[in-house]
Amino acid sequence: MSALKTLADFDGRACRSGQADLFFPKQTNREAVRYAQRLCMGCPIWGQCALEAIPLVEGREMADCVIAAVHLPYEEDLRSE
Ligand code: SF4
Repeated sequence: MSALKTLADFDGRACRSGQADLFFPKQTNREAVRYAQRLCMGCPIWGQCALEAIPLVEGREMADCVIAAVHLPYEEDLRSE
């Protein structure tokens, strides 16, 4: 059994404490995106979150959200800019 905790072990993080919607800002709402990014930058498990997000991002399993302070827009949104 691994001694490493997973993200599910950290219930106190901002994206899990009733503020989850803040991490799914509209692509066009830059202020909301920056706000979610600031919440992540103050997160005590930012580094672990980033490590766990990498394969999800590479596998294109995540989009239209902010995770580990990185905004992942929909590809369709990127094409329309
Ligand atoms: S760094 Fe990750 S775990 Fe922390 S608030 Fe942001 S998305 Fe949630």
